[in-house]
Amino acid sequence: MNMIQASNISKRFGNLEVLKNVSLSVAKGEVISIIGPSGSGKSTFLRCLILLEKCDGGRIEIEGIPIEAFDEEGKRIPLPHKDVKDGVRKMGMVFQNFHLFPHKTVLENVIEAPIIVNKVPKEQAIKEAEELLSKVGLLEKKDAYPSQISGGQKQRVAIARALAMKPDIMLFDEPTSALDPELVGEVLGVIKQLAKEHMTMLVVTHEMGFAKEVSDRVVFMDQGEIIEDAPPEKLFNNPDHPRIKAFLEKIL
Ligand code: ADP
Ligand code: MG
Repeated sequence: MNMIQASNISKRFGNLEVLKNVSLSVAKGEVISIIGPSGSGKSTFLRCLILLEKCDGGRIEIEGIPIEAFDEEGKRIPLPHKDVKDGVRKMGMVFQNFHLFPHKTVLENVIEAPIIVNKVPKEQAIKEAEELLSKVGLLEKKDAYPSQISGGQKQRVAIARALAMKPDIMLFDEPTSALDPELVGEVLGVIKQLAKEHMTMLVVTHEMGFAKEVSDRVVFMDQGEIIEDAPPEKLFNNPDHPRIKAFLEKIL
């Protein structure tokens, strides 16, 4: 059984076809980088997977649980609310701009969802949050507010916050794109550590060194389609598609 099975996902914004029959399977423990030009649909694809965006067609299964499906006429099939909720909660997401609660401390940011959503007792939520903050190297910042820490630290808090919900799958949407260059490494370091622990991950990134080093597969998106899905050695050294070569030559 795949952790993620997305089949023929389509999405339009008005007349703009943003995703055209995108299919992707992710096995347990796989780390997949998604690369491609700006506007190619990478963020929209992740947002559709976690239902932050409603797709217009296709099927999404998370650990075998369908969370989105359409019939042959293209009509959305109603799915049991509990299954959808359970499926979505198997995923955690980290955004480019951190999305921390500004009026809550680092620790409060991390314990919020476990307490409110998962009904974890406060004492236990704090204990688990402190373990996660220590894992991302930020325990000493637990009482700071987001405005008092660096971008790299904010993003590490965002990662700890997502992990606090004990997801099986992590989705990262350009987690280092908003950071000053000297702060990129500390965030990639945390993601690499998760890869070592065999967390299943989808990472949209422009960090080609990271994609090469950490990914089992690299997916290249262009104009709403996956045009190649291959191991990093293949995609970076000998891509099938000339558009990939052109893209890599431009950015490397
Ligand atoms: P990427 O993450 O690869 O840069 P996006 O998924 O953000 O690409 O965007 C894909 C296309 O969809 C772009 O043309 C973008 O302008 C458009 N788009 C994204 N979100 C919206 C939205 N909420 N409304 C209208 N168009 C959107
Ligand atoms: Mg994007």
